[in-house]
Amino acid sequence: MAGRVSMAKENFQLGEGKVQISRQEIKKRIKELGKEIAKDYRGTDIHVICVLNGAFLFMADLVRSIDLPLTVDFISLSSYGSRTQTNGEVQILKDLNASLKNKHVLIVEDIVDTGYTMTYLLKYIQMREPISVKIASLISKPSRRKVDVDIDYLGFEIEDAFIFGYGLDDQQYKRNYPFISSYKD
Ligand code: 5GP
Repeated sequence: MAGRVSMAKENFQLGEGKVQISRQEIKKRIKELGKEIAKDYRGTDIHVICVLNGAFLFMADLVRSIDLPLTVDFISLSSYGSRTQTNGEVQILKDLNASLKNKHVLIVEDIVDTGYTMTYLLKYIQMREPISVKIASLISKPSRRKVDVDIDYLGFEIEDAFIFGYGLDDQQYKRNYPFISSYKD
């Protein structure tokens, strides 16, 4: 009912945990990445693919900092097992809408962790005959890598810590925090 606030909402605080990457740092880095991407692709259109759900805010900010003609599409993937016990199997939950044939594809991902998801996605995209494929990832955790992934445009490299905020979830919540947090000091 309008005007009624549940206890959970009354106690809600935007910004639990310790801020690891501030709103200003994210904004600055995305501007730099946008400029670099626009320079690298000058003269061509790009087709930007957002990996849902975690990359939705990064995607929204990144495309607004790329001064090029571009189109967007969205894909949703899930990996089997928990984050710490992932077995490398990936499933498509929501598929792409548009063909990739003759397009320069830029994948926009939130985190490259073990690398399994990105390796699977790269193969999946390459089968659809794009002209080229590159990867932009907001975060990389190299110490957790199980398979090599070349990230063309990287926001931030971090140590192994569970992070949330700015699109990244903590049990599906906290995606709306404007910065990246963790429970670690
Ligand atoms: P990978 O297949 O590289 O192990 O996993 C990539 C996915 O795991 C990311 O796209 C992200 O959804 C999830 N992930 C990995 N580390 C974290 C983390 O610290 N926080 C959150 N919220 N998700 C993570």
